[in-house]
Amino acid sequence: MQKKKLLIALLFAVFLVLLSHVGTRMTAVQPAFSFAAEEEKQVFLTFDDGPSTVVTNRILDVLSREKVQATFFIVSDRAETRKETLLRIAREGHTLGVHSKTHEYAKIYASNASLLADARACAAFIASVTGKMPDVYRFPGGQGTRAQRELLEREGFRVVSWNASCGDEEIAGASADMLVRKSAESAANKRRVVLLCHDSAPHRATAEALPRIIAHFRAQGYCFCAF
Ligand SMILES: [Zn+2]
Repeated sequence: MQKKKLLIALLFAVFLVLLSHVGTRMTAVQPAFSFAAEEEKQVFLTFDDGPSTVVTNRILDVLSREKVQATFFIVSDRAETRKETLLRIAREGHTLGVHSKTHEYAKIYASNASLLADARACAAFIASVTGKMPDVYRFPGGQGTRAQRELLEREGFRVVSWNASCGDEEIAGASADMLVRKSAESAANKRRVVLLCHDSAPHRATAEALPRIIAHFRAQGYCFCAF
């Protein structure tokens, strides 16, 4: 009888040891699984059509306070008298990109040669002020054709589009509240968001909305990236 009890206790002990091994294996497997499930969510804040004096500097103040990096696509004719703002963008670690010299569609898109000349002139101006040649490009007023994209890529540019918008150009006279809402709506369900915003002179509401736009993406677990 005593032997039987001993045997049962022994089997139970073996069972417990086996169970603990299975448990160890399961917990060892789990981190790999959850790592794969938690792919990083990224948001690229992008600002087109600047620099302007008031709006660009307000946006830079917010980005600095929030410790967020962004990308500014520059119209170089507008930067001629705002070199200090251009330098501030570079000095504070943001990315400067090419958005054209003039933003005048008829001139820029007249031919491949004029498109290229416009991009080169804008890039050269940015380099002359900041000492660094920009290598990202965004088409003024659209996405460009495939041939136009390839032309700029051969020139050494990474051509950057967008997949979400704060709505500051589409909605005339939009309030900051509307821009926050539109940003969240247009980025919904995207793990990699490139948000289109503008920092030219009329867009004071964009600067006003920016702290809440950043708070929204932060609360959703996004990290902030620049090109
Ligand atoms: Zn533009």
